[in-house]
Amino acid sequence: MNKEVICTVCPRGCHINVVGTETTVENLEGYGCKRGIEYATNEYLSPVRILTTIVKIEGVENDLLPVRSNKALPKDKLFDCMEVIRKATVKLPVKIGDVIVENICDTGVDIVATKPLA
Ligand code: SF4
Repeated sequence: MNKEVICTVCPRGCHINVVGTETTVENLEGYGCKRGIEYATNEYLSPVRILTTIVKIEGVENDLLPVRSNKALPKDKLFDCMEVIRKATVKLPVKIGDVIVENICDTGVDIVATKPLA
């Protein structure tokens, strides 16, 4: 298996070519420093993403609450997490950092408000 990973650790954005199996990395090429080795290995074996989206507000038609995951989520769980968030609603008032969905999809990650709304 072969995958190109763009390292986002620094602005140089190295294109790192990773060769491996489903569970191991066998070769890496194209990294500009050793931080890229760790980044590309993680991205190849278990990619994660911060999820940023919006949630409906109870009783409010024309506004939505911006939220994000408080930690990176496994990429293969993002669709399931979005389904949960799509069905969620929040009651005002809300402060920045308030937990909107706790332990989403049993990941240990919370979805939190990124904007105060009253
Ligand atoms: S591999 Fe190193 S130099 Fe290249 S983008 Fe990543 S952190 Fe920056």
